[in-house]
Amino acid sequence: MPKGRLLIVEDNLDNLTLLQDVLRALDYEFRIAKDGEAGLSVARDYVPDVILMDMSLPKMDGWTATRHLKADPALKHVPVIAITAHAMRGDRERALEAGCDFYMTKPLNLREFAQKLKDLMPPPVPPPVTS
Ligand code: MN
Repeated sequence: MPKGRLLIVEDNLDNLTLLQDVLRALDYEFRIAKDGEAGLSVARDYVPDVILMDMSLPKMDGWTATRHLKADPALKHVPVIAITAHAMRGDRERALEAGCDFYMTKPLNLREFAQKLKDLMPPPVPPPVTS
């Protein structure tokens, strides 16, 4: 059983490959989208447990996509982790202001990343009680 379901919204192939490898190693199921518009549409279809959101994206940037996600009653509860190379002053605030729940900079601290995912996943469904 996968430990949870994620959506990766990322246009950079190297970053995408890294995230996919990490999520596979951690036993998560995931789907990918390579621009903000696709990210929204996959999110609506898949309703993941957590969304990993790059900010610089084609078609619709990550800030805009996150605003749409957080305005959608079916998706606003889904935690969005902003993952961005933007390490400039103010970028963290800008991501949080757009509605991102958490913020991580590239290169990712993998231990911190794995722990964050673990914390955000819904608890496992307990096995049925048999009498
Ligand atoms: Mn990008």
